[in-house]
Amino acid sequence: MQKVIKSNWVIGNWKSNPSSLTQAKNLAKEIKAIDFDKINGQIMLMPTNLHLTSVIDEMQNSKVLVGCQDVSFTSDTIGAYTGDCSAEQMQAIGAKWTLVGHSERRTYHQESEKQLIAKIENALKNGLGVVLCIGETLEHYEKNQTLNVLQKQLSILKEVQKLENNLDKLIIAYEPVWAIGTGKVPQVAEVENVHQNIHEYLLTINANLAKSPILYGGSVNADNVETFAKSDWIDGVLVGGASLVADKFASLAKTFFATKK
Ligand code: PEP
Repeated sequence: MQKVIKSNWVIGNWKSNPSSLTQAKNLAKEIKAIDFDKINGQIMLMPTNLHLTSVIDEMQNSKVLVGCQDVSFTSDTIGAYTGDCSAEQMQAIGAKWTLVGHSERRTYHQESEKQLIAKIENALKNGLGVVLCIGETLEHYEKNQTLNVLQKQLSILKEVQKLENNLDKLIIAYEPVWAIGTGKVPQVAEVENVHQNIHEYLLTINANLAKSPILYGGSVNADNVETFAKSDWIDGVLVGGASLVADKFASLAKTFFATKK
């Protein structure tokens, strides 16, 4: 199958790091100082909610976008939802995109399909782009159930209202749960097969939906990123641990975009 040309992305998910606001500002400053002007794609950082405003401020007048790691399931823009931030609040402080359904949220917060659909709708309604994370566990992988699991996770897109008006606001991030933070990575050929399958499945929902970039995530670093970047089926990488040290992240991002040229 001929691959559709899509935008390229390198996204840093800072998770619950670093430990202080000063460290977060310093990391943002160091990343801002890197010359990303000639890259042919998008770089985005996703800090904690606590550090979001400061990182957005640091990144003013830079090529680096800033997004958040989650939004509330509720369509209420304010209210009695302890610990939640609404998509409207995120948009109002300058976040551009949000992760939805990261495996750590699915695991530690038992996020249901209904909640994920609501989060995607709230994000899109408030102008935020959505990076929908999907991925199989080691057990699913070993039982050869990866494609079934991913199709089930993607099937929630059929329920998202008004998705057809927001098709440029969706990125799919394929992150095998067993590869996140473990140093283990699948073979590129395996990722390519999965991405092709995701593309074909999206086509069955909506032809335009299949234009969404499909990223790989899970133990990507400056040493292995070139292998992923070489594949036409991999439109970007979602990076956790290796996004927390500015020069390593810079080297990873530069290698990725240089390989994509
Ligand atoms: C992630 O959490 O999205 C991720 C890919 O983490 P890591 O790069 O540390 O495996």
